Amino acid sequence: MKSSPHRHTAAVINLENIAENINRVRGHLPGQPELWAVVKANAYGHGAVRVARHIHDMVEGFCVSNLDEALELRQHLITQPLLVLSGIVPANVDLARANGISLTCPSLEWLELIIEEHQDLTGLKVHVKVDSGMGRIGMRSADEVNQVIRLLDQEGMQFEGLFTHFATADEANPDKFEQQRQTFDNLVSQLERRPRYIHSTNSAAALWHSEQVGDIERLGIGMYGLNPSGEAIELPYELKPALSLVSELTHVSKIPKGETVGYGATYELAEDSYVGTVSIGYADGWTRDMQGFYVLVNGKKAEIIGRVSMDQMTIKLDKDYKIGTPVTLIGRDGDEEITAQDIANWRKTIAYEVVCLLSDRIYRKYI
Ligand code: PLP
Repeated sequence: MKSSPHRHTAAVINLENIAENINRVRGHLPGQPELWAVVKANAYGHGAVRVARHIHDMVEGFCVSNLDEALELRQHLITQPLLVLSGIVPANVDLARANGISLTCPSLEWLELIIEEHQDLTGLKVHVKVDSGMGRIGMRSADEVNQVIRLLDQEGMQFEGLFTHFATADEANPDKFEQQRQTFDNLVSQLERRPRYIHSTNSAAALWHSEQVGDIERLGIGMYGLNPSGEAIELPYELKPALSLVSELTHVSKIPKGETVGYGATYELAEDSYVGTVSIGYADGWTRDMQGFYVLVNGKKAEIIGRVSMDQMTIKLDKDYKIGTPVTLIGRDGDEEITAQDIANWRKTIAYEVVCLLSDRIYRKYI
């Protein structure tokens, strides 16, 4: 989908905040792990190419979720190592090899499939995934991992890494984290040979279990300045949110008491009111459940009234405003601030989802 730069609405991405967050996290990690920036899902809505270009020289590699995301970065001249974190379609492995993209091997079965489908896999870079308790992808036994390593060697592939992923590094209770850590360490101790990189940590682990960071820190949400735990655990040091979402009033009407606003005529005005219209809707990832929440106009909260429609929504204003008056949906206006986490709380979800859902139609403006 094309983004809409001529519209009133834009996500403003502060690239310097992302750079500062990276420096902050790096400064708190023991040892000298490599830092691989997780820029999957269009850099969590922040724009993968622009973010990757900005931090190219600050990180040692990038992680993405699928081959197309990796290829997009290569097409935009990102030359750093790239790791695809999920298993890819076996038939497409050659594309990864040709572009020097490292792949995740989620199982012996997947490895056998790619060997069956390709004559020559020499040099293909592979990170072997261990399921230490996430239950998503990866191998659960040292036996299977060692069989995989032997096959990789036999076929001339590069056993570049071995990794796992924690399910609860963002929770206050460390029990499951500890269990996974032990399972992973135990499996690592049984490896027939070690790869160049052994890694396990996401942002939450880097923030609250930094002793666990191995050869690579896979840094995602923290880089964008958001707390991976939501509000469950306080950040050990400040991170700066990189994304704000701004718009303008496109229309203001004075509507009499008793009239209704929006689809379904479900919202009835209790008094004569100024109603403002904002150019954002559920097609932008501004979901219908935002009705009842608020935005900021002139440093004050303005309630979202009526149903959020596909491209527009309506808000209750405290007075008459001119078309073009700024509206803040995420960010600060005067003394008031709306964070992605506030929206996540309202929607009973996580800030990751709030920023990832902002659709491509929303123009990304970089500062
Ligand atoms: N590593 C893997 C395997 C992931 O799937 C993710 C994100 O989901 C990350 C690292 C980064 O996680 P976070 O954004 O919590 O830092």
